[in-house]
Amino acid sequence: MEYPKLDVLKKVAANATEVAGNDREVLTAQLGRDPRGLVGIGARCACGAPAVTITWPRLLDGSPFPTLFYLSLPWAVKQISRVESRGDMALFNERLATDPEYAAAHERAHASYVARRDLLEKVPEIAGKSAGGMPERVKCLHALAGYALAVGPGVCPAGDDALEMIGWDPAVCHCADSDDAGAGLAEPGSGATGGSGVGLASASGAQAQA
Ligand SMILES: [Zn+2]
Repeated sequence: MEYPKLDVLKKVAANATEVAGNDREVLTAQLGRDPRGLVGIGARCACGAPAVTITWPRLLDGSPFPTLFYLSLPWAVKQISRVESRGDMALFNERLATDPEYAAAHERAHASYVARRDLLEKVPEIAGKSAGGMPERVKCLHALAGYALAVGPGVCPAGDDALEMIGWDPAVCHCADSDDAGAGLAEPGSGATGGSGVGLASASGAQAQA
């Protein structure tokens, strides 16, 4: 797997940049695991830290990987997790069921996602499949918010709405907030899993496969 050139990355996502400097190390700390299949940074925090991963649609071990964009920035991951855990996914799915324009835009976001991923490689096992519950549902706001951050507003309305709900501001860095730094990510009660970030890493791995 080669890193795609910047012009290709920019077609995949308007806010994409190349993997540079210590991005891989920062991502490993953010995710609690190696950022497998990483080929680009979908968006960055105001401080420059990676906020969204771009993953090649087939991992080095050959397994297909449908989740092109994923939120990695600890503060944003935590805020989105709060939105999910307070049950706001139901609001999104109610709106999809009752607002035909919103539902149509969600379907277009799905088609755009697949087209963007196909620019890297068309992987038959995941042809026509996207992520985050698209085209019909909202299942993982981390995937949708990551998508929206990478491509900019107006492509994925559910992701745009999720970013608005957490007060995402591209000019503001929360990376130094003690409560929201990487080690603080484990939610109360998950300490039984042991080290910092271990519980989160397995949870986000599961989401990434959803
Ligand atoms: Zn930051």
